[in-house]
Amino acid sequence: MDTSAFRAWVHEAARLIADNAENLTRLDAAIGDGDHGVNLRRGFQAADEMLDKAEAETPGAVLQTVGRALISKTGGASGPLYGTGFRQAGKALADVTEVDVAKLGSALEAAFNGIQQLGAAHEGDKTMLDALGPAVTAYQVAAEGGADIAGATRAAAEAAERGLAETVPMLARKGRASYLGERTIGHEDPGAASTVLLMRALATVTAG
Ligand code: ADP
Ligand code: MG
Ligand code: MG
Repeated sequence: MDTSAFRAWVHEAARLIADNAENLTRLDAAIGDGDHGVNLRRGFQAADEMLDKAEAETPGAVLQTVGRALISKTGGASGPLYGTGFRQAGKALADVTEVDVAKLGSALEAAFNGIQQLGAAHEGDKTMLDALGPAVTAYQVAAEGGADIAGATRAAAEAAERGLAETVPMLARKGRASYLGERTIGHEDPGAASTVLLMRALATVTAG
């Protein structure tokens, strides 16, 4: 994946999030404060616009630009969390110009670790990590089994969807949803749903 492929990922992610913003907001209205779709649409639109103006000449620079945009423009808990994920992924890519299947796997892992450290959530707490964790694992299993980037990102997107479904019976232990306790059981986590969109966008642009 070269720099333009990473730009395409962000563009596709912004488009998918805008198209699904109402659903994200509906999910957040059930177990939070009903702003997740609005927050992320604003953040990814800002990231996409910032990239249009920015030099960002490497994949890592693209991801770091997105991270900064998300931290400064997305409201809510999800902005700093996703922003940190993108920044850590960008750092992991350093100044590589062509990202191979293994390198993308290490970037996804760095994103997971960055979000985990900042938010102190664990898998099972009903957060975005419940989609991202399975996605990273499935990516790595596919890559170690010889999959190319298209195959590994497809596996990641499918695993994120399964992870999202698994958040339904979970009790939220982090963020605003945790205030609702038992009432969060029976609903998908909005952040896990947006992670599915990010993984789906990645699979779409790498499917070539
Ligand atoms: P807010 O809750 O501040 O309104 P959003 O609605 O944009 O922010 O984002 C809510 C989502 O953020 C949740 O669905 C969850 O996936 C994620 N989230 C909240 N707290 C954490 C955390 N500590 N670690 C990981 N993800 C979290
Ligand atoms: Mg919210
Ligand atoms: Mg909010």
